[in-house]
Amino acid sequence: MNQGQHAVVIVGYGGMGSYHAKLIGQANSLRVVGAYDIQTDRQEAAVQDGYRNYDSYASVLNDTMVNTVLIATPNDVHKELVIEALKAGKHVICEKPVALSVAEFREMVAVAEQTGQILMVHQNRRWDEDFRIIKQMYDQETIGGLFRIESRVHGANGIPGDWRHLEQYGGGMLLDWGVHLLDQLVFMVDSKITSISGRLSYILGDEVDDGFEAILEFENGVSALVEVGTTNYIPLPRWYVKGTEGTGIIEDWSLSGRVVTRNKDVGRIEPKPIQAGVGLTKTMAPPSEEATITEALPQPFEHASSFYDNYVAVVEGTGVPIVRNEEVLRVLNIIEAIFTSARTGQAVRDFDLY
Ligand code: NAD
Repeated sequence: MNQGQHAVVIVGYGGMGSYHAKLIGQANSLRVVGAYDIQTDRQEAAVQDGYRNYDSYASVLNDTMVNTVLIATPNDVHKELVIEALKAGKHVICEKPVALSVAEFREMVAVAEQTGQILMVHQNRRWDEDFRIIKQMYDQETIGGLFRIESRVHGANGIPGDWRHLEQYGGGMLLDWGVHLLDQLVFMVDSKITSISGRLSYILGDEVDDGFEAILEFENGVSALVEVGTTNYIPLPRWYVKGTEGTGIIEDWSLSGRVVTRNKDVGRIEPKPIQAGVGLTKTMAPPSEEATITEALPQPFEHASSFYDNYVAVVEGTGVPIVRNEEVLRVLNIIEAIFTSARTGQAVRDFDLY
């Protein structure tokens, strides 16, 4: 290993653990040296990929060459694995959702503070280009001030894998995709949430939610809809946003989309009535061609660095985390509020850790 490189061991070498190994292979100052998994076939896969195989978690933590432990196991064991690693003097990157509750994450952060070790949560979807375009529109008011943000992911494959179906492992879509979409939303909208209401869906008969809808009202007037579905054979667009001057849409991760704004150079043009169904309407007639301008999506907002480079800067004391633990805690609290709202059928107020 070159000097200045941080040795990483991946704990949980499944789908995401092996993906990290691939991504970190391209980063400069992190080097994956080994992996540990409780399943023999996953241990063998790590060896085949060229990584050292540890035969126990204790042997990972006892290896003085190891600087960073990256936890990519099912959600229910994040807390115990993270706390053990921090106590053993390791820095930790943990997958999302970092914990199953606010209380769990508070315990983890307290240990990081006591030990002086870094704990950073992999909220990687803050780097998604579709999100960074919407954040740019929000910050720059490209279509005027955004007052309505609809963020959705729709699939038709049901809940994937095995452990995601079960509550004891922290399964369900609110904890899975919900944590990403809510993290993006509150990273963008810097305002207190005044009210939240949520509904979970159980179409597939699992004990955990196979999707959810949440409406969040912010103090600054923004209203957001966040929705995850796994039974949507026809998906709705990834993003639909309304601003005071126009509307924006991003269909999917291929970034097809557009913004349509009011043409300020022309005065008000009275729409012509159209036949709509069996009736006639002027209100819902499409605006005349001169009345609007259709443009490509703006360029995305850029982060100062990648997640991994930011992590290294934080460990080396030369940078501040882009994903802050206070923000992660706030999102877990929002998730708890959605569960509460879904259970009680009431909106939840005065809960935000803003
Ligand atoms: P997975 O089932 O594919 O892999 C999990 C692996 O962890 C399995 O190989 C399992 O044997 C191993 N494991 C279980 N308990 C362990 C333990 N105590 N010690 C060591 N290994 C253990 O699951 P996955 O899809 O890779 O998800 C893993 C984590 O990554 C979850 O927290 C998930 O939410 C997260 N994830 C994040 C993203 C993202 O984009 N950030 C994407 C997918 C998954």
